[in-house]
Amino acid sequence: MIPPKIARANILRSLVLLLLLCLAASAALGDGETAPARDPKQPVDEAYTAKIHKYTTQPFFTSPLVDYLPASKNVPTPEVVLGDVAGAPGILPYAEDVYKYMRLLEKASPRVRVFSIGKTEEGREMIAVAVSSQENLKNLDENSAQLAKLADPRTIKLDDAEADRIVARSVPVYYITGTIHSPETGAPTALMELAYRLAVDESPYIREIREGMITLITPVVEVDGRDRMVDIYLWHLSHPKDFYPPLIYWGKYVAHDNNRDAMGMTLKLTENVLNTYVGWKAQVLHDLHESVPYLYDNTAGDGPFNAWVDPILTDEWEVMGWRNVSDMTKFGMPGVFTHGVFDTWSPGYLMFIAAMHNGISRLYETFGNGGADTLERTLEPEEYARTWYRQNPPLPKVMWSQRDNNNYEETGLLTSLHYFNENKQLFLKNFYLKAKRSITKPASEGPAAYIFPADDPRTDSQAELLHVLQKQAVEISRATAAFTVTLPAKKPAKPKKDAKEKDSKEKEALPAPTTREFPAGSYIVRMDQPYSRIADALLDYQYWSPEDPQKTPYDDTGWTFGELYGVQVTRITDPKVLNAPMERVKEIRAPGGVSGESTIYVINNNAEPSLATLRYKLRDASIEAAEEPFESAGKKFSRGSFLLRNVTRAQLNDAASELGLQAAPISAMPSVKTHPVRAARVAFVHTWLSTQAEGWWRIALDNLGIPYDYISTQTVAKTGDLNAKYDVILFPPVGFSNTNSVINGLPSGWGNPLPWKNTPETPNLVGKNDSTDDMRPGLGWEGVAHLKSFLEKGGVLLTATDTSQFALSIGLADGVSVGSAQKMKIVGSVVGTRLVDAASPIAYGYDEKLSAYCNNGPIFSLSSISGARNSRRLGAETHTRPTGRGTVDDPDFAIGRAGFEVPEEPKPEAWEAPPVTDEQMHNNFRVIPPANRARVIFRYADTKELLVSGLVEGGDEIAQHPAVVDVPTGSGHVVLFSINPVYRGETRGTYSLVLNTILNFDSLNAGRKLAEK
Ligand SMILES: [Zn+2]
Repeated sequence: MIPPKIARANILRSLVLLLLLCLAASAALGDGETAPARDPKQPVDEAYTAKIHKYTTQPFFTSPLVDYLPASKNVPTPEVVLGDVAGAPGILPYAEDVYKYMRLLEKASPRVRVFSIGKTEEGREMIAVAVSSQENLKNLDENSAQLAKLADPRTIKLDDAEADRIVARSVPVYYITGTIHSPETGAPTALMELAYRLAVDESPYIREIREGMITLITPVVEVDGRDRMVDIYLWHLSHPKDFYPPLIYWGKYVAHDNNRDAMGMTLKLTENVLNTYVGWKAQVLHDLHESVPYLYDNTAGDGPFNAWVDPILTDEWEVMGWRNVSDMTKFGMPGVFTHGVFDTWSPGYLMFIAAMHNGISRLYETFGNGGADTLERTLEPEEYARTWYRQNPPLPKVMWSQRDNNNYEETGLLTSLHYFNENKQLFLKNFYLKAKRSITKPASEGPAAYIFPADDPRTDSQAELLHVLQKQAVEISRATAAFTVTLPAKKPAKPKKDAKEKDSKEKEALPAPTTREFPAGSYIVRMDQPYSRIADALLDYQYWSPEDPQKTPYDDTGWTFGELYGVQVTRITDPKVLNAPMERVKEIRAPGGVSGESTIYVINNNAEPSLATLRYKLRDASIEAAEEPFESAGKKFSRGSFLLRNVTRAQLNDAASELGLQAAPISAMPSVKTHPVRAARVAFVHTWLSTQAEGWWRIALDNLGIPYDYISTQTVAKTGDLNAKYDVILFPPVGFSNTNSVINGLPSGWGNPLPWKNTPETPNLVGKNDSTDDMRPGLGWEGVAHLKSFLEKGGVLLTATDTSQFALSIGLADGVSVGSAQKMKIVGSVVGTRLVDAASPIAYGYDEKLSAYCNNGPIFSLSSISGARNSRRLGAETHTRPTGRGTVDDPDFAIGRAGFEVPEEPKPEAWEAPPVTDEQMHNNFRVIPPANRARVIFRYADTKELLVSGLVEGGDEIAQHPAVVDVPTGSGHVVLFSINPVYRGETRGTYSLVLNTILNFDSLNAGRKLAEK
């Protein structure tokens, strides 16, 4: 029963809707397209429909597509599982309930099939639900075989006429993914109802979608995070007056960044969605988000667009986006727009799986309340402003419900599906054309291939990068014999402006193309394959101009994977490379094992992260690191090479084979100095402020098999003797933090604690992560004291980016200051660093040049004077002579006395501390003793060489400054990173800076040269 008052309101609302419906119908009928109107012959589920109206807060927050629910005799509505309609206030189903409903649909309707598509990190299931006509679902395999030919035009010899025939008889697949971002809660119920509508509704508008195409739905992408979110929401419902805990963990490892994994492919959810998308040969991947009022199709941003996508796709973005806006505008729904500030540069977003695999990527931001409460929402002026791309903007202040959200999501999707279906031949043909253009890439824009040479010393990291490409469905080949290719001539330096004439001799002197031979066994990524685009996007270099009109890059600007993995990748434009003798490879493994037998074995150190894995794997082996390079049996071994004893050949062979490490027997220990490489006891510290940035560190350590205790700053505060338990404390970046928030935590003045723990009410919160009775307290001054004491007693603390700033701000390391950037803008870029102290164990295995991920610093400067804030930047200072006699190079004179020798001023490099002067040495207790001074391991490259990939503006502010510093403190060390060495599964090349610190924790001073003064 509906109370009379509401019933009256509903009648009014229905009248308005009817009017809107008529308008919409007449508008749509004129163009010959099917009207978005229900089938009057099909009965309506009156009770369900009444609730839809009840929960919709304004008559214009709905459409004729979703303001009713068609009735069915045998197919259950979402109400059977939810206990109410989709989008009802207070209703947020667990993933399991969503799946239960989808499987009920499958049972009741031959138009629905549910597929399991994999598991999450915590073992929860992911599904994909196919909705289409019974006939289409019966012919899935046949249709899939047809689509596979369009997806890989090599199978039909790039025959356009044959493609046309296949297009004419194929049923396209439109893949929709929901709630990858756990606090964005509306999609699962919207998608439950959407699946019902697509299966049941007999209106011509919906029937055409059902019969013309396959809608594939993954209602919950981040399943672990969804269940946590529902826990919190239910807790909130039962404690309505209390604050509820923020969703500190989404998935096991990362939060919002789960939508930045489509390059590195580190997370299960990305892999599962990619496999589904590619496996189904889908044409569209449409990902649902919530943030912006009321529906923002953010696919068509304002640039710069990703440089590797096909322009056919960028047109499709616009065509579909604007049509979507148009359709919903006709329904009278305010606040629907496309375009906007999103730049579409980075290919890290989940939807970009489609963009990089010849499909269409789409993304909605709808409006959400972070749960199913109906709330009054007040917008910012820029949110409700009318702009050229938002002629019908959102309202400044409204009541907003989850039902409103569901209405917008479903209406947007249904109009998209309908439009797509009406133009499916066009889109299927485009799908084929984009694949074909990917295959013809070597002859068009190029390159022809990328080569991973067989003689790269980092064979394991090479294999790992190739595995990423394989996860991306890229085909890898391997040369069966050596081959030679032509490399393009290096461009001559730009002629000087005053060189007016260029004589013919100069022209002749232009450098000629060179050739290079690659050994047999080199890996080749051919660009004449359907998924060449993703390989090109990952392996190529990026350049974001400081002059670009887009001043706020949405995400990272550079990512070149060869650089960040520290492996050699050569871009080959010479199409002859494709004729090199090669074979396709399925399984790629770095060669590893033991070549002979002895009591001592040696493994060269090339900064392969797997060396650390080996140390922890062979617990009983005695491993020493060579502190100097040496030769043995005619082979050269670098600093840090492992010398193993007390291990059998079989044990070592098993481990080394698995890890892609090559061990050689030697008859005697080399004469160079060595020190033990121990399996340090590691604490991994997180805050209760944010866990995302550190999550990437956790997943990297877990994948490498490096054990650690995962503790919070609160545990540090409670643990008096940290040294008793740990040798090394990792404090990875928080992401956004300052000294105040790390120490004091969240504001505690609001009364109720914020528990993060499993209870009968919240069974899913913790998983295998950390828990607390109250998230609010931070490290506290006790924690600071414990860290200090840990260092005094010989512990090693490793920090990066904002936690480095934190460690410096509380005085854990002396002689390092942080400068503030003036014009510097380095937005998620790959930058060059240079080795400063090769003898430091932190640098073991590294070369002179190392590329690293940097996001605006911090800018470190060193001083040998305690407490000094060294503000010098921009390299060496320039002292000009004072005004006086003579030329600029002459000495000045004082009248009436002999000249004097000007003492030469020491000119330190930007990464060095200025040498202590004689003046400073006079009874100056502030001079830091040489053994306690900071030791720079890596510095940023010179200004000209700083940019490797992405955006570097004002780079002179950080150029040459320290990037990795080891500061002795007490008997311990603080190792400070300005770069972020462990990031999004993309930076394997810098992992060993962290791992070397762990393995050599009690010998970090090895090879150290002390200053004389
Ligand atoms: Zn989102």
